[in-house]
Amino acid sequence: MKQLLGLRLAELADDLAELGQPRYRATQVFEWVYRRLQPDFARMSSLPRELRATLAERYDAHVVAPIHVARADDGLTEKALLELAPPAERLLAGPLGERRRRFNSVESVLMIYPGARVRRTVCVSSQAGCAMACEFCATGQSGFVRDLSAGEIVGQVLHFARRVRQIDGPDARLTNLVFMGQGEPFMNFENVWRAVELLTAPEAFGLGARHITLSTVGVVPAIRELARRPLQVNLAVSLHAADDRLRSELVPLNRKYPLGEVLTAVREYVRATKRRVSFEYACIGGVNDSPSDAAKLADLVGGMLCHVNLIPFNPVAGSPFRPPAPGRVEAMAALLKRRGVPTTIRDTRGRQIDAACGQLRARVLRDSA
Ligand code: SAH
Repeated sequence: MKQLLGLRLAELADDLAELGQPRYRATQVFEWVYRRLQPDFARMSSLPRELRATLAERYDAHVVAPIHVARADDGLTEKALLELAPPAERLLAGPLGERRRRFNSVESVLMIYPGARVRRTVCVSSQAGCAMACEFCATGQSGFVRDLSAGEIVGQVLHFARRVRQIDGPDARLTNLVFMGQGEPFMNFENVWRAVELLTAPEAFGLGARHITLSTVGVVPAIRELARRPLQVNLAVSLHAADDRLRSELVPLNRKYPLGEVLTAVREYVRATKRRVSFEYACIGGVNDSPSDAAKLADLVGGMLCHVNLIPFNPVAGSPFRPPAPGRVEAMAALLKRRGVPTTIRDTRGRQIDAACGQLRARVLRDSA
């Protein structure tokens, strides 16, 4: 069976033409899936009954399903562990099947920021697990499983687009999308890009490219590639350290693409796109959170069209790393701002529900072991 969600409109129309169907049937299917958020062929009442049955035989439209949900912040944060397993995998019975099912899953998070201009942000995963092995990251420490397909990425967004309507009413829409869940999006660039195209296409999900952020640990060739792509998505780069010695310890990829190369690629990106980049910096107690770390960071990024986002480290079970002592993150932010670097401190949404990258999956796996 083919996955429906990764298909472009033209691809579905070609498939349907082969079945002797007019191309507008593809547009109708897209309306059901992306506008009405109704991917069940049986309920696509504008299609002839026979065609519905044919489509249901050929396409799998359900690519993710929640197997664990956690809520925090009075329901404004909702984290889901979503199952990715193909249908055959689901048939495995018993504890082994159950464990494999949970292993073959990713985390996605919805964060609602109420107000006159309410924001509803979804954070999606691009891979099951991650091969980058960042020292402090729960996903990095749990290893790599596989790349997600474009459909599996789109599926995470549609899951929360539906949830948002249940929570805030039929007109409620997602407003922002960040690739800051599990995985390194730039190691799965083409699938991520196909998903971005579908999520921005007016005939599909129709989210503005400027409301989408891709976050990378610094995969230099992909940063260059992004600069050449036509959509105006945002780029975030996870730095975590402003010198190569420390960064290579925290982020093994730095041995391949050291800071100088990452920053050169980012400067080229800014020149080519005129877009502001954000630098993510997880502040870890006693590791990278001193005033001199902040000064080095200001030296590194000062003068760029950029923005620094300081993330207080979210404790990970079994990890030796600790959150920063009270006041440290604020002191770093103050120093950076004094040096003219626009800086914000990330709010720690969903701490109590294992909201940092990979924590929920790690706990559910642990509990089921
Ligand atoms: N691989 C991409 C996408 C993951 S984004 C990247 O590294 O940018 C997830 C962000 O959360 C990254 O900046 C990551 O370094 C950070 N992060 C991971 N674990 C964390 C933790 N325990 N506390 C705070 N930030 C964490």
